[in-house]
Amino acid sequence: MTINRRQLLGQVTGAAAGIAFTSCGFGHHHAAAQPAAPAVRRREVAVSGKRVRTVDVHAHCHIPEADALMGVKQTFPGLMIGDDRIKIMDEQGIDIEALSINPVFWYKADPDLARQVVKLQNEKLTEFCAKHPDRFVGLASVALQHPELAAEQLGDATKRLGLRGALIGGSVNGMELADPKLHPFWAKAEELGALIFIHPQGTPEIEATGRLKGNGVLGNVIGNPLETTIALSHLIFQGTLDAYPGLKICAAHGGGYLPSYAARSDQGCVTFPTRCDVTLKKKPTEYLRQLYYDSMVFTSEGLRHLIAEVGADQIVMGTDYPFPWTTTAVDHILNTPGLSDADRVAMLGGTAHKLLGIKPI
Ligand SMILES: [Zn+2]
Repeated sequence: MTINRRQLLGQVTGAAAGIAFTSCGFGHHHAAAQPAAPAVRRREVAVSGKRVRTVDVHAHCHIPEADALMGVKQTFPGLMIGDDRIKIMDEQGIDIEALSINPVFWYKADPDLARQVVKLQNEKLTEFCAKHPDRFVGLASVALQHPELAAEQLGDATKRLGLRGALIGGSVNGMELADPKLHPFWAKAEELGALIFIHPQGTPEIEATGRLKGNGVLGNVIGNPLETTIALSHLIFQGTLDAYPGLKICAAHGGGYLPSYAARSDQGCVTFPTRCDVTLKKKPTEYLRQLYYDSMVFTSEGLRHLIAEVGADQIVMGTDYPFPWTTTAVDHILNTPGLSDADRVAMLGGTAHKLLGIKPI
């Protein structure tokens, strides 16, 4: 059973509405104990009557000053960082957003510009989060195309600024995340215990062939989860996760297609052993249970299957705000049948609290 605390509060408010207040009277000091109830607008999520502080790990923003530095202008509604998003969070029952910025532009930047852009973004994001410390935490930007610099930026962002990790693309200018050139970055992420959120940037190599053109937004609908699938597969099969077993990696969009067809990953090297040249410490699918995933799979059946493959403790709520893929991320978790209270609490916010280093209330 789950209880929506807003409904509960609504009932209390309704009952209180019948009471005649005398707070305007003279000398009725006891009336102060019965203040007029304010309009309850913030949705407070609860599981079996117990309040859960929910966390959205997948929420985007842009920093206008950094965009200006790169000569680009973002016009998507809600993308600019600002206080207005709190209203949406209140409506949807999101208590905390982990804000991040997609590396669409600065992955092409030379070290000088990349340094400036990333510094500006991380500092502005930190400033904004500090204004609302109970509602926002930040994931840093890093210039992954310059791996040593990216490692340095991750250290600066987490230690000096207090950001909780970083968002990176699923590849960087055609380089796989498992490329040994990126080992300094992974080593630093592991050392810091920083959450690395892998967010796909599409599959430009396939888009270039024209195969994702036409109706259906396929460059995104297929291209994004495909890139995540490729990125995670390389991290597993090239032995990156064996080399850095303490990494805390969260994959966007439920891990793309990988958890949907995971068992095939175990059969490739069994079927074609001469085509495999890296010996892994575990079965490929076992690595799926040490990664984290957002809950953006849309249906109860999708969530049930993801849980079956990776475990409920590995799933964290994500909305992709301000892109309106969903407005019901909380209900998706509350309403999926067959889950324990502990499962729901973990996905709504419990696991994200640990990953992001958010102190319990
Ligand atoms: Zn996104």
